[in-house]
Amino acid sequence: MPNSCPKCQNQNVVKSGIIKNRQRFLCKDCNYYFTVKKLGKQIDDYFVTKALQLYLEGLSYREIERILGVSHVTISSWIKKYNLKRPPRSEFHSSYKVFKQSELIEFMQKEENIKGSGLIITEFGDKYMMIRWERFRK
Ligand SMILES: [Zn+2]
Repeated sequence: MPNSCPKCQNQNVVKSGIIKNRQRFLCKDCNYYFTVKKLGKQIDDYFVTKALQLYLEGLSYREIERILGVSHVTISSWIKKYNLKRPPRSEFHSSYKVFKQSELIEFMQKEENIKGSGLIITEFGDKYMMIRWERFRK
């Protein structure tokens, strides 16, 4: 993690995606986005884990690229590296939504939104992503 925000010098910074192989950060005090030196091959393991997780949930490389800001070529190489195979899924399908915290709370308040489906909520920078899956209706 960088020590401080280059603009206001506060240390209240969080990771906020990867742009062109650079880790992007957001300063929570002044809302300034900044990147640090190239990560090259050492992209944070956090993103590798998230990419593998999303792949298992049935998302395409392009969808994962859009969410994580990591190229689909890189994602494809991770899938190969970890020899990941998706189980065949016939009864379940997953969808995902990206929320701000307030939107997430609003969504969760309605029981019909969360009943009868599995949910994973995972943090991405200053937003939250919810993967949701349910049985196909017959
Ligand atoms: Zn700042």
